[in-house]
Amino acid sequence: MNQLNHSEVNSIDVSKLLQFSVTDSTAIEKCFQSAVLFLADEKGEIITIREVGGLKTKMIEVLYQLKDSMLEKEYPYYTNGCQVDVIHIELPESLWCGYLGLIATVTDIKPDMSVRSFLEGFRYSLSLSSKLLLYRNNFISKSLSEAKHTLYSILKESNYLMEITNIGERVLKLVQTSFEHLIIEALFFEKLDDHLLSLVISTSEIKDISPLNCFLHKKAIQSVWDIYTNEEMLENGWMTSHLNYHSAIIVPVYNQDDVSGALVILLKEQVGEDKLEQLHYFLQEVKPVLYQAHINERTSIEQKRKALLLQVTKKFHSSMDVGEVLGEMIYAMGQMYPSFSVNLLLSRDWKVNEDLPVKQFYYGIDSCGVAETAFLTGKIQIEDEIKEQSSTIYAPLRGKQGIYGVMQIETANSMVFPKHEIEFIETLADIGGNALENAELYQQSQNLINDLQLINQTSHQLNSNLRLSDTIRFMTDQILRSFSADEVGYIMFSSSGDLNVLEGSTGFYFTDKAQIQLATLSKKIKKEKESLFVGDAKADGIYDIDPYQSLLAVPMVQSGELKGMVVVLHKNPYHFTFENFKLLQSLIHHSTLAFTNSILHEELERLVITDHLTRLFSRNHLDQKIQESMFIDAYGCFILIDIDNFKLINDTYGHQVGDDIIIQVANVMKKNIRDNDIAARWGGEELAIYLPKVELLAGKKIAERIVRSVAIETSPRVTISCGVSSWNQNENDKSLKLLFNLADECLYVAKKTGKNQVIDQTKLSKSK
Ligand code: GH3
Ligand code: MG
Ligand code: MG
Repeated sequence: MNQLNHSEVNSIDVSKLLQFSVTDSTAIEKCFQSAVLFLADEKGEIITIREVGGLKTKMIEVLYQLKDSMLEKEYPYYTNGCQVDVIHIELPESLWCGYLGLIATVTDIKPDMSVRSFLEGFRYSLSLSSKLLLYRNNFISKSLSEAKHTLYSILKESNYLMEITNIGERVLKLVQTSFEHLIIEALFFEKLDDHLLSLVISTSEIKDISPLNCFLHKKAIQSVWDIYTNEEMLENGWMTSHLNYHSAIIVPVYNQDDVSGALVILLKEQVGEDKLEQLHYFLQEVKPVLYQAHINERTSIEQKRKALLLQVTKKFHSSMDVGEVLGEMIYAMGQMYPSFSVNLLLSRDWKVNEDLPVKQFYYGIDSCGVAETAFLTGKIQIEDEIKEQSSTIYAPLRGKQGIYGVMQIETANSMVFPKHEIEFIETLADIGGNALENAELYQQSQNLINDLQLINQTSHQLNSNLRLSDTIRFMTDQILRSFSADEVGYIMFSSSGDLNVLEGSTGFYFTDKAQIQLATLSKKIKKEKESLFVGDAKADGIYDIDPYQSLLAVPMVQSGELKGMVVVLHKNPYHFTFENFKLLQSLIHHSTLAFTNSILHEELERLVITDHLTRLFSRNHLDQKIQESMFIDAYGCFILIDIDNFKLINDTYGHQVGDDIIIQVANVMKKNIRDNDIAARWGGEELAIYLPKVELLAGKKIAERIVRSVAIETSPRVTISCGVSSWNQNENDKSLKLLFNLADECLYVAKKTGKNQVIDQTKLSKSK
């Protein structure tokens, strides 16, 4: 058979083979819910298509795009919600060249599915089957042919997914079943950093593989395999003697200089030459597939890691909700390490979703020593529990300004964490830390804004010259609201030692109970002049302010002098924060001057309108009030009072007693009039009363009542004389002066006609 004919015949078979493999593959159905697998020739013309899950419009669009530009693109790429990957195929002996491509909708790709791994597995199986096809008419050793067949079926069984955990397991199983009683164990190790980690194991008798590590390092990689006797292995220090085996076959899995791992087969007894040859062929075939599968798996894990990090980062940038970011972080950990249990130890109490594994991190508790180290140093800590064969990782949740907690990761068995895994965990933890930091800073700035608003409003209020009680009521409301307090009280210390509760304080402070309960507190404040922050007054035992347990007390100090205190209470223990305390201090500090000024001002105001001796209103105030009344009322009545023979009193008993008599008369006056009436000191021993909206006759009766009472109630006994005048709006010449003159004239008549009596203006006109 000449060369041309041979390739002609085969090329027809090859196109059939390609057609068949693509259209008949069931593996694609197992791997993808919705996908298109296609073959294209070297020019990029699509020649065969196989679709699963129906050809969707978006896939048709992608295929259409690919038609013109298949060779120009870089793969894999994402478009239209699809992942698109195309790889080059070159069948052995230049039988056929072209492209194998796959379009899968991103949402339909099953988890842990790598499009690239599938394509590579598929390519490999095509290459194998075409080789077998080629060798059909040529001589080929039985062992080689069998090995190719075996590998082909392994690839098919694993749905062409060329990933080490998938293929490795089948390879090890196959080796074990074909040598059944000869083999103790087959293992696949992967090399990570400078460690060997067992990735796939047929059984698990061998736990400690670190000696093997040194051994493999020493070996130059030249052959497909090396067979070592038991003695050699023992000499080289890997394997303990209690494992009784005959020899070991070590197959380094490598490509050029890159060793990705090793396949180790431990033999129980001597193996026959033909069996060994069969194994040799098989391993030779399988080695590059294992290498590629291993690289594929690593790449796809790396991609997954990147995708997860991207997802968490996106959440971090798009959400202000710290719970959501932490949730995404926990999800990513679960995706990467499904068997690990993850806890977040947070240094502050955050309000996050209850399903999140968040625990409060109490600094200074022995049981979390390693967590503490991570928290304090900001460096990841790994703790190996030798006895329980488990490891715990503590990754600090770092922000830019501080550390906000620790992520605790517990593994079921003790394990080595390669550098890139640690980096991944660290990056995740840092995103969490930054999210916590942002949330905390946001909260802080929010608090500051609230505080500033409060201070701003308060100082407005203080400057607006309201009455003291209104200002205090306002402050009380503010504190009640922003501290969620139960009671707010402004208590001034009087010189006599009494506690004067200012109007505007809440109800509790006006009770008799409060006066007693606040005694200890006020003593302490008076003595130390320091603010008090009590979290649990009951437990404290010093301040028994039942039923209140949280207490803030701030002294009001003005020019170094203690004026009083502000006391804020809540029924629950530990209700107030330290920030509340600081804010209250600052508020009181700012407002004390305004308060004391206000108190002084109101005192002065009272002094001006009252007579110092009698506490009656001043003459000035009386004038003002009569004028007001003449403006708004229809009529009013005025009584002028003069104590009879007062000189005699002074002469007999002295001025002191004289003063006291004036006070006694003033008190009788006050007792006999209503709140609206104005009793005033007219001057000396002369007093006056103005009765708004009272007619002359009624006024006269009141005057007579007072005259009678004075004569009875004073001691030493005195009498008084009264002149009574009135006005009403019908009079044209109503004026203060007239009103006073009339009363004065009446009084004169009263004195002249016997004293201890009342004369009203009607009598006056008669006498005139
Ligand atoms: P009459 O019955 O006519 O009113 O006789 P009288 O002695 O009260 O005479 P008059 O009203 O003219 O005298 C007022 C005296 O009252 C003069 C003054 O010594 C005395 N006096 C005025 N103001 C005070 C005061 O604030 N305290 C005392 N103790 N005496 C006063
Ligand atoms: Mg007089
Ligand atoms: Mg007199």
